[in-house]
Amino acid sequence: MSQNPRPDAEQPRFSDLVDLVDGLWPFSLTEDWDRTGPVAGRMQRPVSKVLVAVDPVAEVVDEALEGGYDALLTHHPLLLRGVSSVSDEGYKGELLTRLIEGGCGLIAAHTNADQPEGGVSDLLGQVLGLRDMEPLVPAKGNDDVEAPAGIGRVGTLEQPMALAAFARRVAGALPSVAGGVRVAGDAQAEVRRVALCGGAGDSLFDEVRASGADVFVTSDLRHHPASEAREEARGGTPYLIDTAHFASEWVWVPFAAEALKRAAAERGWEIETTASEAVTDPWDFVLVPDRR
Ligand SMILES: [Zn+2]
Repeated sequence: MSQNPRPDAEQPRFSDLVDLVDGLWPFSLTEDWDRTGPVAGRMQRPVSKVLVAVDPVAEVVDEALEGGYDALLTHHPLLLRGVSSVSDEGYKGELLTRLIEGGCGLIAAHTNADQPEGGVSDLLGQVLGLRDMEPLVPAKGNDDVEAPAGIGRVGTLEQPMALAAFARRVAGALPSVAGGVRVAGDAQAEVRRVALCGGAGDSLFDEVRASGADVFVTSDLRHHPASEAREEARGGTPYLIDTAHFASEWVWVPFAAEALKRAAAERGWEIETTASEAVTDPWDFVLVPDRR
C-alpha cells in the first residue's frame, strides 16, 4: 500500500485530482493537435465528488452543478482551439463561467485516454467480448510511459457469429441512442475477427484490411471512406458497423469513475465518483424507410 504523501490532508485538492488523472491516462500521450489536462478550476480547492462524462455540454454541466460536484472529468475537451474570450456570450464561455462560479473544476482526458490499456478502444473490445487484443496501430516507443499500447484494437470473438447478431451485440453493449447502429455487409455472413476504434476511425482502413478483420466497428464513418472501403472489399470483408461517436466512447466513463476512485483510495483519499448517464449524442430521432 502506498503512503499518502500528505497525511495531514484528508481530502485531495483539485491539483491532486489532476495528478491522479495523469497517473491513469498520462497527459504525455496526448496527440499534438489535442488539448488535455485541467481546463478550469482552483488548484488548491478540496475535491470530494467527481463526475465523469463524455461531453462537456450544458446537460452535463447542469448535472455537475446540481449534484454539488467539485470536479468534472470529460473525455472531449471543451477548449481545443485558440480562445480569446470566455465571457458568457458564447456557450463555451457560459459553461466555463457557470463551472467556475459553482466551484466545479474541469479536466479533459481525450487522446491520452484513447490508447492505453483501460482506454476507450481497449474497453470497447472488452465489452464486445474480444480476446487476444492488439492495437491496430501500435504506439511509438515512449520511454517515459509504460506500455502505451496504441490506436484501435483487433481481436477475436470466442465463437464466430452472424454479422447481424454481432451488430445486435454492439448495439446492446452501448448506451441506446436515436440513430442505433448502421451496418454494411451481408446480415448472415459469419464474423469472428473484429477490428475497432472508439470514436472516429475512418482513417484506419489500411490497418483494418492488414489486420485481416471480418468486421470494423467505429464511429463517424463518412460517405467516401465507407463507400470506397466497401468497393475495395468487393462486397466481402471487412464489413462495417458504424455507431454513434458518443456511444462508442461512453464505455470509458464508468471504468474511469471506478479507476479514479481506486487510485484515490490507494493514496488514502476517499472520493465519490459518478459516471454520468446523460446521453449526449446530438441526434434526437431518425426516419427509416417503411420496408413493406
Ligand atoms: Zn471522441
